[in-house]
Amino acid sequence: MTDIRGRLHIDPGPDQWLLSGAIDETSGLAELLGRAQNGRLVLDLGGVNFINSLGVRDWIRMQSEATRQNIAIELRRVSEPIIHQLNMIIATRGTSRVASFFAPYACDACGREESLLVDATSPGLVQLIAPPQKCPECAAEMAFNDFPERYFSFLVPEPARPG
Ligand SMILES: [Zn+2]
Repeated sequence: MTDIRGRLHIDPGPDQWLLSGAIDETSGLAELLGRAQNGRLVLDLGGVNFINSLGVRDWIRMQSEATRQNIAIELRRVSEPIIHQLNMIIATRGTSRVASFFAPYACDACGREESLLVDATSPGLVQLIAPPQKCPECAAEMAFNDFPERYFSFLVPEPARPG
């Protein structure tokens, strides 16, 4: 059954929770931690198309609560709006692990632009090289449509701070 919180919909999946819509101050994300199984919570964010600044605060609260309660959050199919937050605000990453995420690609041959799924363990990502993708329209090789050093920076661990 769909759990509707403001503009966010939460649906149960086989072993994860499917989030879709917008994350804002009415989302109550920290309450999702109560659904963790054996200290693990898997969130599919493929349908999240917007997060506002109050939603970011709510998200950070969820992450810090998860760290405090020792709950491992796995994020799957993370949409572009969430990736932008992970890149801009370190606290949004918490101790969660990103398994896969969407990234912008463009086709030089036919002009198609598409958000395509990338496996976070793809070789090359640690060197900030976008994995190759085929255009769904014309099957030509697509070009990554952002700055890799910016878009993939959430995958690079922060250097440990002294003290
Ligand atoms: Zn194409």
